Amino acid sequence: MKIGELLSRGRHQLANPDLGRLESELLLAHLLGVTRAWLYANPDSAVGAKPEAEYLQQIERRKNGEPVAYLTGTCEFWSLELEITPDVLIPRPESELLVETALEIIPAEAEWRVADLGTGSGAIALAIASERPNCEMHATDISQLAIDVARKNEANLLPGRIQFHAGSWLAPLDGKFDLIISNPPYVAAQDPHLIRGDCRFEPRTALTPGSDGLAAIRHIAGASPDYLESGAVLIVEHGYDQGEDVRRILEKRSYANVVTRKDLSGHDRVTSGQLAGRA
Ligand code: GLN
Repeated sequence: MKIGELLSRGRHQLANPDLGRLESELLLAHLLGVTRAWLYANPDSAVGAKPEAEYLQQIERRKNGEPVAYLTGTCEFWSLELEITPDVLIPRPESELLVETALEIIPAEAEWRVADLGTGSGAIALAIASERPNCEMHATDISQLAIDVARKNEANLLPGRIQFHAGSWLAPLDGKFDLIISNPPYVAAQDPHLIRGDCRFEPRTALTPGSDGLAAIRHIAGASPDYLESGAVLIVEHGYDQGEDVRRILEKRSYANVVTRKDLSGHDRVTSGQLAGRA
């Protein structure tokens, strides 16, 4: 089949007026190793039998709900092209707010020790490392499979910049940090969101800590003071309806200057707090 015909077939199969066109193009472009612009310019170019069969198979899988990022094995975050597998959460655009918040706090030339807890694909650690070349970046994850994915991304994008530690949250770390950041699992166990859309295919432990969704944040907030320099900051991502709860958790643990920021959709998304001590 020709490119134009295949795309029209993919679009039809996906039958989603908003995303069907984009997704059918993303899948074919990735499979052929070309850009979407190239597809537009070459609608009459013939596609071989093998890529054609593979494409139609991918369209079928997408129809059954598999996320595009898992089908292509890639995802863009903070302009970094990351490799993704179903062992890690697909980085979300709203998590870029975590990075923005960190960059407002870390001076450009700072030689800070920074820890990213539950790094998954390494998206957040890599984004910060790419913007703050003098920081000593550490990243932890309890999943060895996630660490393997993150290491591969580090090797591709910023070799040698991140020290990885397999283990739970702060447990595998030593010493004090100038900033701790995390996008932990925060979806409540009963949230119907977990059985819809992309979430169905993502690692459950990366999405929910169970019960009210706040257990991981409570743990991180409680354990971080032993790992933070005085005056240093903790930044966590959370659900749109958890801002007040997370502020309360941090305040109870004696963090000061506790502030919640909204993402681009206007939802509470990131809360930070500072340990007492530094002026
Ligand atoms: N933002 C994700 C979602 O709502 C959840 C990510 C997380 O739990 N860290 O699907």
